Amino acid sequence: MDCLFCSIIKKEIPSDIIYEDDQVIAIKDINPQAPVHFLIIPKKHIKSLNEIEDTDLELVSHIVKLIPELARENKLNEGYRVVNNCGELGGQTVDHIHFHVLGKRQMLWPPG
Ligand code: 5GP
Ligand code: ZN
Repeated sequence: MDCLFCSIIKKEIPSDIIYEDDQVIAIKDINPQAPVHFLIIPKKHIKSLNEIEDTDLELVSHIVKLIPELARENKLNEGYRVVNNCGELGGQTVDHIHFHVLGKRQMLWPPG
């Protein structure tokens, strides 16, 4: 299977890694939409939020707990936005689930 984020996780494609453990990798987005913009990507290939199963819930908790830790490390103390694009209308372009964390600018609502 050809998956960009699986290749990044296997380090076949270089990326700017800001955090890694046995379950996830966090990398800087190649096309940042804010002064701080990184992606938290589980090492397990899961296509999208729609494919999350009961057995993935520990991984999901791990990611949720990691978000404020990485936000703190990246000095996002004034606030930040977490985004998951799911499916075509959700704007998902890479079919390997990931969570965007964006900060260091005022976020707008509604999003585009
Ligand atoms: P999505 O549109 O699926 O929610 O998010 C995919 C994200 O991956 C986009 O923000 C895009 O800029 C980022 N991206 C795409 N290709 C690469 C890459 O090769 N390296 C990195 N670091 N980010 C990428
Ligand atoms: Zn993948």
